[in-house]
Amino acid sequence: RLPVIAIVGRPNVGKSTLFNRLVGKKLALVDDMPGVTRDRREGDAHLFGLDFRVIDTAGYEEDDAATLPGRMRQQTERAVADADAALFLFDARVGLTPLDEEIARWLRGTDRPVVLVGNKAEGRAGEAGLYESFSLGLGEPIAISAEHGEGMADLFGVLQPHI
Ligand code: GDP
Ligand code: MG
Repeated sequence: RLPVIAIVGRPNVGKSTLFNRLVGKKLALVDDMPGVTRDRREGDAHLFGLDFRVIDTAGYEEDDAATLPGRMRQQTERAVADADAALFLFDARVGLTPLDEEIARWLRGTDRPVVLVGNKAEGRAGEAGLYESFSLGLGEPIAISAEHGEGMADLFGVLQPHI
């Protein structure tokens, strides 16, 4: 069994873009519309010689469990329970939102290791968001650009201990 990494985060932070980069196929639907990936997708990821299974979850939304956002939230929780580590992705350009803080609070209460990753940080964009994210209590963030492929060596560094 390959080690499993679950990518979690609110809608539109770039989870499916990162999944596609790691898996190397257009398996996950990427769209400008938040929350478009409703189905859980899994694929075999490769990152500089690391082989692992990656799960792309739908966005996590704070809502009644009977609603669609509620089902997406349950799916996120199931994915993390199945994983060896959670990769918590936030949008470093936007900075933290109340939903990011809610997800972080939930992740701090799980027994899974969490890797904190600020996306959309190409160039120097997102520096303020990265500093802000120390307040989540999930350790030091790394900066990546899933779209442009930046920060992949740092991602390797933080994932390697869990794989
Ligand atoms: P998800 O809802 O978390 O799965 O997010 P998506 O992967 O669907 O991406 C949402 C939007 O963010 C899309 O328009 C992506 O093109 C864009 N995006 C993803 N990664 C990056 C990045 O590294 N930099 C920038 N600037 N945009 C990104
Ligand atoms: Mg998605």
